[in-house]
Amino acid sequence: MRARVFAAVLAVAAHASAQDVAPAYDILIRDGTLIDGANTPRRLADVAVRDGRIAAIAEPGSLSDAGATRVIDAKGLVVAPGFIDTHAHADLEALRRPDAHNFVAMGVTTIITGNCGGSVDDVSEHLGKLESQGIALNYGTLVGHGTVRSAVMGTANRAPTEDELAKMKELVARAMDAGAFGMSTGLIYVPGTYATTDELVALSRVVARHGGLYASHMRNEGEHVLDSIREALEIGRRAELPVHLSHLKISFKPSWGGSRELCALIESARKNGARVTGDQYVYTASSTSLDVLFPSDALAIGRKSFCEKLTGDESFRNAMKEALLSDMARNGFGDLSYAQIASAPNPAAVVDAVVITARPDSASACATASERRPWCSPAPWIRNTFSSIEMPTSTGTTSRL
Ligand SMILES: [Zn+2]
Repeated sequence: MRARVFAAVLAVAAHASAQDVAPAYDILIRDGTLIDGANTPRRLADVAVRDGRIAAIAEPGSLSDAGATRVIDAKGLVVAPGFIDTHAHADLEALRRPDAHNFVAMGVTTIITGNCGGSVDDVSEHLGKLESQGIALNYGTLVGHGTVRSAVMGTANRAPTEDELAKMKELVARAMDAGAFGMSTGLIYVPGTYATTDELVALSRVVARHGGLYASHMRNEGEHVLDSIREALEIGRRAELPVHLSHLKISFKPSWGGSRELCALIESARKNGARVTGDQYVYTASSTSLDVLFPSDALAIGRKSFCEKLTGDESFRNAMKEALLSDMARNGFGDLSYAQIASAPNPAAVVDAVVITARPDSASACATASERRPWCSPAPWIRNTFSSIEMPTSTGTTSRL
C-alpha cells in the first residue's frame, strides 16, 4: 500500500492573530500517523507547533481543547519530520526557485547541494544571497573539488604543483569557513577525474580540520566500483573524516548483480570503524552531461576546444566515435537499445546524434540504466536521494517510495 505522506514544513509557522486569548499553538496536526524518525514504531498522535517548533506530541484528541490558530486534519496521512536530501544539485535552482516547490511537495525540508565535485565558486557570497532572498528550505552546501581544481588548474590533466595544491587548500578552507559541510568530488568528470587519491587526501585533511565530510561521486560505478569504494574509504581513513558515497549504484550491465558485494564491503568497513554512509536513487535511470561518454584524456583540452575539434577534425571525430562505441559495448549497451535519443535505425546514427549534441551550449543529458538499490535497503547507512536536476527523482521520489 502506498503511504500518503504529509510533511510538516515547520519553517513556515503561521502568525497568531491578535486576540484576547492567544491560542496555545500555531498549528495543531490532528490524528495523523506519526513516524518520528527516531526508530520508534509508527503511532497515531497529535502534533502541536508553536513558534516554528514542535511544542507537543500527544495522544490523538488530547490536545484538541488546547486551541490552535490552524488545525490540520491528518487522518489517514503520515506525519513525519521533513526529509533531508543529501544530494540535491540545486545550487542555482535555489536562487531561481526559492519556493522549491518540487522538494516541498515531496516533504523535503533540508537539501544539501554542491554535489559531485561541482559547487558555487564563492560559498560565502552564495549563502549570503540565499539568506537575503529567502528560501523555503533549510539549505546546506559542500565545496566542489572540481570547482576548486578548475579555479586553480583549469582542465590540466596532471598532479598539482606544490603551489597549486596550496591554493586549492586555501579555497577549500575558505569555503569551509563560510559554512560548507564538506567537500564533494566528481571523479568521472573533468577535472576531478585527473586527481590522484593523494591529492584528494591532502584536500580532505583541510576539510577534516573544519569538521567536514568527504562526499564522492566515485571514479567508477561499473566493473571497478569496489575499487572506487575502497578509494573513498582510504581517503576517509587517511584524512580522518566521514565518507559519504553519492548515488550508489551499479551502472553497467556486466556488473549488474554486484550490489550484494558492494553493500557487504561498506558494511564490513562500518564494522571496522569507518564512518561511511551513502545515498541512492529510487529509479533505475540517472542523468548526467554527455561528455562523460568520451575518453577523459581527450577532454583535457577543455569542453569548448573539444567540441570544436569534434566538428572540425574528422579523424578526431571518428576516433571519438570509435571510443564511444567500444566503451558502450564493453558496458553492455552495444546494441544501444536503451538509447532514447531518437529511434535511430542503426547505432552509428545514434552515436552521430550523441557526438553532434555534445556541444558546450547543449543542455543534453544522458540516461543510463542501472541496477536498482536491491540489497542495501533497508540499511541504517543509506538514504534516498531526490535531486533537482533533469531526473524523475526531482518530483517522484516520495510517491515511488
Ligand atoms: Zn554524481
